[in-house]
Amino acid sequence: MMKFFNTLTRQKEEFEPAKPDKVGLYCCGPTVYNYAHIGNLRTYVFEDFLRRALEFNGYIVNHVMNITDVGHLTSDADEGEDKMKKGAEREKKTVWEIAEYYTQAFLEDMDRLNLLKPTAKPKATDHVEEMIDQIKQLEENGFTYIGENGNVYYDTSKFEHYKELGQLEKQESEAVARVEVDPNKKNPHDFVLWFVESKHGDQEMQWDSPWGRGFPGWHIECSAMSSRYLGDQFDIHCGGIDHIPVHHTNEIAQAEGASGKHPWVKYWMHGNFLVMKDKEKMAKSGENFLTIATLIQKGYDPMDYRYFCLQSHYRKELAFDWDGVDAARTGFRRLREKVMALGDTEGEIDQGYIDKFMDAISDDLNMPQALAMAWELMDDVSIKDADKLSTIKKMDTVLGLKLDEPIEFELPPQITQWILERNEARDNKDWAKADEIRDKIQESGKWIVKDGAGGTEVVPK
Ligand code: AMP
Ligand code: ZN
Repeated sequence: MMKFFNTLTRQKEEFEPAKPDKVGLYCCGPTVYNYAHIGNLRTYVFEDFLRRALEFNGYIVNHVMNITDVGHLTSDADEGEDKMKKGAEREKKTVWEIAEYYTQAFLEDMDRLNLLKPTAKPKATDHVEEMIDQIKQLEENGFTYIGENGNVYYDTSKFEHYKELGQLEKQESEAVARVEVDPNKKNPHDFVLWFVESKHGDQEMQWDSPWGRGFPGWHIECSAMSSRYLGDQFDIHCGGIDHIPVHHTNEIAQAEGASGKHPWVKYWMHGNFLVMKDKEKMAKSGENFLTIATLIQKGYDPMDYRYFCLQSHYRKELAFDWDGVDAARTGFRRLREKVMALGDTEGEIDQGYIDKFMDAISDDLNMPQALAMAWELMDDVSIKDADKLSTIKKMDTVLGLKLDEPIEFELPPQITQWILERNEARDNKDWAKADEIRDKIQESGKWIVKDGAGGTEVVPK
């Protein structure tokens, strides 16, 4: 029996999906106006462990992740910025081009981290009709009002469960401080469902609606799309902890207000944040804007970062620094070498180890403990190599480390450039320059230069 910490009850609970062998899982996806930073990606890595752990337990998982490619104002009061528009202005492209580019970039990052593809990845812009339908339903059920600006608002005082997920009663002053003052609102927590009036009047993405031409509020996309793909009620909803007090709280108000069914989602699971070790925020720009490309440039395999995430529990804050990633890289390499040394003959699965591994992943996704089991197995001299190989491969269906595959690596662009220059120097018999470039490549301690038949070869150390 799996147990998960449910944010709704603030307790670890036994997991019982509505249907015995199927799980409906919704994960809030990226806003595609820039690359995902490795903080965002920590949350997707956690969700990937969850999906794999459920599958390991025999469930068929219907995993839905939305792509936010419209609006996404940082504030309902319309005082914030439109992230998509900001991206388009920065890069002198249309918002549609920005959305397409960063969606592809995100999918590539998922691939590099070996994250399983969601069963469905609906785009917000393809589902505006469903959002309008849900707002109409809310209007019919008496949950909405029109502000003086013509925007459609959700009246949070009408929804009795509004404060449950975020325990907003307890944290009232803090939560209210976080929502912006908007004279159109009747209650501080009220939020916009549909914008007709906006300071972003020249917004490229607009649709006709019963309330006028405009665009949806941010929260409505998740409740509308999850209903479309997973039904009125489903099992698990995930995201980062920042989504608890506002985004997820509003999603519940919308979904339950429209369907009249409670609870909409039985288990809410939230991943804690990746923070910089010096406690600075993971920024959207500047030095703290770390992406998968940053890791590759610095000579890491993106999978080193997967291993780094694996070492800490998803509900604990994870402090990032380069020493930590170096340590993860070393540990990951040693584990892979041990698996490689087993040869390729498979034997029997060791049930004792699999049971312990299963206990760890079933205990609120205790991945550090699961990883410890993998290490214990590899160091256990009483188990035959062939049996170890079969057992570790089974564990790796959850760890997702591709332990039995040769190490793939991507060379940073600078190294590729040096290889070209070094080959040219060698062609010109300029040995001093060739040596100098070799030293530059090896300087970081991450790469070794070899002289192969085809010229300079560079491999990870
Ligand atoms: P966004 O694209 O901003 O909607 O964020 C995508 C996902 O990343 C959401 O589930 C957020 O909760 C999560 N997230 C944002 N910042 C961090 C962070 N520093 N660490 C972990 N997760 C984060
Ligand atoms: Zn969402």
